[in-house]
Amino acid sequence: MSMLQDIQEVFFSQEDLAKIANRLGHQISHDYKDHNLLIVSVLKGSVIFMADLMRNITIPCKIDFITASSYHAGTESTGSVSVTDDLSVKDVHGYDILIVEDILDTGRTLQKLSDIFSKKGASSVRICTLLDKPERRDKSVTIKPTYIGAKVRNEFVVGYGLDFDQKYRNLPFIGILKEEIYHPTTETKEAN
Ligand code: 5GP
Ligand code: MG
Repeated sequence: MSMLQDIQEVFFSQEDLAKIANRLGHQISHDYKDHNLLIVSVLKGSVIFMADLMRNITIPCKIDFITASSYHAGTESTGSVSVTDDLSVKDVHGYDILIVEDILDTGRTLQKLSDIFSKKGASSVRICTLLDKPERRDKSVTIKPTYIGAKVRNEFVVGYGLDFDQKYRNLPFIGILKEEIYHPTTETKEAN
């Protein structure tokens, strides 16, 4: 059975996504020339974007990974954010950190991560997000993304790293799932 049967609509094709990674990679290479760039990918959702973005960055840089969780199964945020796996770089002093995220929604996750890196003494902290849902931003959130791949309306998207219940991350494009996948009726549930 193919995952493609579950797709309602494609929002960003492989070609669209390649163009985004290329455009942002060039911009970042230009802006961080002569800086001590440390790119931090927020697991797991940003891994595919990270892999494409970093191959479009032409200046020397280091990479690291962090895990932060604000979502549980389903499509709604729980509100609280926790860091479950920290950087392997222990001292961030002197680094210009660029946080790479799949999607900026309420913004609580990146607010928390930005605050942590700033408090720990990073030289600068900026955000590169593949997708931005500005209408969803929480009132308490003050961070603003410097690099944005594309803005999206308030719909729950999957693919290219983004999951629904940990699945669909391996789709090479970004789209939305059919309504019955997000909210299965009893009949569909029994049929599965
Ligand atoms: P925030 O703290 O900004 O509310 O949450 C950001 C995280 O929520 C993202 O990294 C992502 O894991 C999840 N998220 C928010 N919107 C979507 C969406 O439309 N699709 C998916 N798959 N995850 C989303
Ligand atoms: Mg995520």
